[in-house]
Amino acid sequence: MVDPLLQDDAARVFALGRLNVLDTSIEEPFEKIVTLVRTVLAVPISTVTLVDRDRQWFKARRGVAVSETPRSVSFCTHTIQQREPFVVEDAQSDERFASSPLVTGAPHIRSYAGVPLRTPEGYNVGALCAMDTRPRRFSPADVAILSNFANIVCDELELRMIAQVDHLTGALTRRGFLEQAERELSRVKRYGRPSSMVMLDVDHFKIVNDTYGHGAGDQVLKRIAELAGVAIRPTDVFGRLGGEEFAVILSETDAEQALVVAERLRTAIADEPIRLSNGTALRVSASFGIMPLLPSISSVTSWIEGADQMLYAAKVGGRNCTRLATSN
Ligand code: GH3
Ligand code: MG
Ligand code: MG
Repeated sequence: MVDPLLQDDAARVFALGRLNVLDTSIEEPFEKIVTLVRTVLAVPISTVTLVDRDRQWFKARRGVAVSETPRSVSFCTHTIQQREPFVVEDAQSDERFASSPLVTGAPHIRSYAGVPLRTPEGYNVGALCAMDTRPRRFSPADVAILSNFANIVCDELELRMIAQVDHLTGALTRRGFLEQAERELSRVKRYGRPSSMVMLDVDHFKIVNDTYGHGAGDQVLKRIAELAGVAIRPTDVFGRLGGEEFAVILSETDAEQALVVAERLRTAIADEPIRLSNGTALRVSASFGIMPLLPSISSVTSWIEGADQMLYAAKVGGRNCTRLATSN
């Protein structure tokens, strides 16, 4: 039977993206699992592998020196084509893998067992793998153990995502934002690309709450997050830093372009009354601060501080306006 979710790689990659886990740093739960797999199954190599569009990236790894490889040479790209575990007893006598650089060179994989990592929506985003440098049979008991560990990996992936996404607005939580900001910072520094942070805070939000109630305030926050979602690209990092304060990292965007985006969002918020569920139309505004990633910025903390100072300047400057940091 054809399983449509296994055919749609673009949707699968999107589901993987939603987990916000690619290129993140080491995390204890996944480390523990690969360590356990190695011990319990007595294999030298174990990985939590996520299969991106063109690469496989290891969230956790033991016995592999590199953090990613091209997808084309991977075993896991086969595992994610199916619902059941995928086992290769001797890679050298399997024409699909005999010439793979992972077999002919380090880490010299000879046998492989992988269990697909399935999201609740049903996409196989990767695999939990046990590998050996010699041919071997994985017993049904081995595969059952690996499957149980794979279930734990899936649960952990969900839990860490829940902790990263704000329930009310769908934006990243502060924690999630900081993690993605670190990622963006190292990417930008490595490739010398422009990037800008826009921070915004709703004006006189306390009055909204005091006048219309907390529920109305929540609806306003939701609407602002929606408007922000329209103003930015899906690849931009959007987070709720706390209360009624949000931040966006606009990648590949210099100060001038960031100003255009911020102004577009500012006017979208200020121009259109927000209609509450009880019919009340409410006018709100927000103040914006922009901090381009200047060469002098070397940490996420100082990047955020810079944006925050500009936001403060916008508040002092009368609110419902944008202030942009300049490099001089
Ligand atoms: P300013 O223009 O200087 O930013 O004034 P303000 O009133 O927006 O700022 P202030 O920091 O005094 O008030 C923020 C308010 O946001 C107070 C707090 O109760 C409210 N708030 C924080 N989180 C939430 C939330 O999740 N929902 C709602 N409805 N209100 C929240
Ligand atoms: Mg405010
Ligand atoms: Mg505030």
